[in-house]
Amino acid sequence: MERRTFIKTIAGASLAADVSFAQTSAPDRKLGWALVGLGSLSTNQIAPALQKTKFCQLAAVVTGTPEKGVKWREKYGMTEKQVYDYTNFDKIIDDPAIDVVCIVLPNGMHHEFAIRAAKAGKHVFCEKPMANSAQECREMIAACEAAKKYLGTGYRCQREPHHLEAIRFAREKVFGEVRHVDAGFGFKIGDPKQWRLNRKLAGGGALMDVGVYAMQACRYLMGEEPSEISAFETKTDPVKFAQVDETIQWMMKFPSGRTSNCTTTYNFNGLNFFTAIAQKGRFGMNPTYGYNGLKGWTSDPAHPLDFEDTDHFVTQMDAFSEAILTNKPFEPSGVEGLRDLLVIEAIYKSIASGKSERVASV
Ligand code: NAD
Repeated sequence: MERRTFIKTIAGASLAADVSFAQTSAPDRKLGWALVGLGSLSTNQIAPALQKTKFCQLAAVVTGTPEKGVKWREKYGMTEKQVYDYTNFDKIIDDPAIDVVCIVLPNGMHHEFAIRAAKAGKHVFCEKPMANSAQECREMIAACEAAKKYLGTGYRCQREPHHLEAIRFAREKVFGEVRHVDAGFGFKIGDPKQWRLNRKLAGGGALMDVGVYAMQACRYLMGEEPSEISAFETKTDPVKFAQVDETIQWMMKFPSGRTSNCTTTYNFNGLNFFTAIAQKGRFGMNPTYGYNGLKGWTSDPAHPLDFEDTDHFVTQMDAFSEAILTNKPFEPSGVEGLRDLLVIEAIYKSIASGKSERVASV
């Protein structure tokens, strides 16, 4: 299949939509998005990207800091009514301008706000990792199903051209069958007081925050779910990382007998890659998971892995709105977020038990 056609096809593919969707609006309007949490990602990536989308517009913001609300109103020309706080958030039920609630809060708050948004009759787009536990993910999925609303997860790489082309290489066996994937993502974390180092707010450390990208790469390159995990943790600073993991390495066995090795860390910079080893060649990316400057490579110049930068946030938000507007299933859905939490839980279990552990099924 020609590579652009494949990218379009897979981006629109459905893997897990068992909700019957009521909305049948025409695809010629923009959906109103409410951003919950006005931290770094909302401010620097999501809000600027929203301005460039075809099918989305900023309808409201939700913040616990009134001064931020004032700044956002001035910057984006919003009215006072369009600024909610965490306590009056449920009043969005009476705001028909809001179609989608985009949750950009610390991980430990995703569950609560996703459920409140679904109860208010809004579609939910949730940042990664979807929640602190698989159980929370299941409850979020159930709440959106009960409300007959979409639930999307912010795995932006799943719509990025290099990643989609790498998936095509794997699916179409362009280099033969992929037998093994090595992947890693990490960085040296700063401020010891930030929520990312607080278990209740973050759910875990590097693994929850950035390890999920490496895990995702292995899962979508393999095209199957890992069945067994063996994991190992290293901690050089037990004070800073008293509540969360610092560096984790884990191995994954897939039912087909193929394998992966992954690393994630909050202890050093420069880990940002995947390498797929196939029967007749290799391909990979480095850097792989950032917002731009991604670089692919392959063992055969006839099959390059080379694309221009795209705005991942524009692509994923438009795709979510478009799915809703055209009444089509959306991937990555909440089930995809749940799958990662099931692997994460097996990793933590393996570290605790010192043995390999099975991955629970969806
Ligand atoms: P951030 O710390 O910059 O922002 C978090 C926001 O939550 C802030 O506005 C903060 O005021 C608010 N907040 C509300 N209650 C809070 C509390 N009790 N403690 C701390 N903050 C509280 O974080 P961020 O980098 O914007 O990350 C937000 C979410 O987005 C996380 O789930 C993160 O994993 C995800 N994220 C995704 C990507 C991506 O590429 N998809 C990139 C960065 C972050």
